[in-house]
Amino acid sequence: MPPHPLFFQGGNGSRLTDLDDNTYLDYVLGWGPVILGHGHPGLTEAVQNQLPHGATYGAGHVLEAEVAEMVIERIPGAERVLWSNTGSEATQVALRLARGATGRRRFIKFGGHYHGWSDAMLVGYRPGPTGDLARGSEGQPEAVLDDVTIVDWGDIEAVRRLLQGDEYAAVFCEPVLCNSGVLAPPENFLTELRRVCDATGTVLVFDEVITGFRMSRGGAAERYDVEPDLVVLAKAVAGGYPLAAVAGRAEFLELTTSGVVHAGTYNGNPVVLAAAKATLEALDEPSVYETFENHGRKLGEGFAQALTAHGVPGTINQVGPVVQCMIGVKEAATFTDFLAADQKFYDRLLVHMLRRGVFTLPGGRWYLSAAHSEHDVEQTVDVFEAALKATL
Ligand code: PLP
Repeated sequence: MPPHPLFFQGGNGSRLTDLDDNTYLDYVLGWGPVILGHGHPGLTEAVQNQLPHGATYGAGHVLEAEVAEMVIERIPGAERVLWSNTGSEATQVALRLARGATGRRRFIKFGGHYHGWSDAMLVGYRPGPTGDLARGSEGQPEAVLDDVTIVDWGDIEAVRRLLQGDEYAAVFCEPVLCNSGVLAPPENFLTELRRVCDATGTVLVFDEVITGFRMSRGGAAERYDVEPDLVVLAKAVAGGYPLAAVAGRAEFLELTTSGVVHAGTYNGNPVVLAAAKATLEALDEPSVYETFENHGRKLGEGFAQALTAHGVPGTINQVGPVVQCMIGVKEAATFTDFLAADQKFYDRLLVHMLRRGVFTLPGGRWYLSAAHSEHDVEQTVDVFEAALKATL
């Protein structure tokens, strides 16, 4: 991170303090999971209460079922839940379930969508060391490239054409493309995806690692009123503790009891599930999601006004409490637009914001937590404007 890596000593609510005692309003939130803010009292107490009872049992315990029921109650179409540790692990088991159910190998993903760092999932996320979008990393085996077909986000005709051949096990997507521009799905696109997958026996997977419990209580599936077959959850689900899940239809999840292997020493341990229970309960406070919308809008509008006031061309995208700032592009609606943003300018802007006490992600994305107040948001818009002036 420019200008140099930061080291923190602790956080409280919407703020982080670094080793030199500088305090920052935090919009990184651990890259998303800290949805209640730092050191949330209810979440901290729940974890503290669990700790004396041991870290992990290697067998069933009641919290596994209790929190699974909470997820099932919230996520549209969910009938079963399996627990994992990270989003990268959970997307892999989702793919294996889809392959096990269909007997097909290949899958479709969309350019710029991130589903973790595994060999196959990394295909199509960002142009890698050779500049090729398919090859995300050195050391990624050639063989995985044939497993994945990359399609442009929103191109329903391409999906329809590809799925006609009965070759594809699954379609994966971030239902709001948070990792590459906070691009909302084009109108009716998710509904059409659902329809095409139904017609061709293809498993529809929403990767809601970012959008889950953030875009609404039931994630993007609820926000856009579409029931995927499988939903991958992580980040916000446990408020900053390492927990992930796949939730979805019983016919798929139950394959783990009849041949599809899913393993993991720490899967569903009681500490992280205590964290998840407290987090989901805290997110049930009335007005949490309304406040997310209001603060997201206010932050986005404030940034857009600052850009206009200083004659800086750019686009602000916002969906709920996730905001994206792209300098130098007008109306960013595609992954290509996102890639065209002036990252060098944004890197300098980011340093000017840091100097004024605002910590935000490189690349232009901002996350709001339930701990951010309206005053925090107003202060941040002022800092953004001052930093913009200093960058010019
Ligand atoms: N899917 C999405 C949409 C993500 O944003 C991420 C991480 O940022 C992942 C999957 C991978 O999750 P993890 O970092 O927990 O492995």
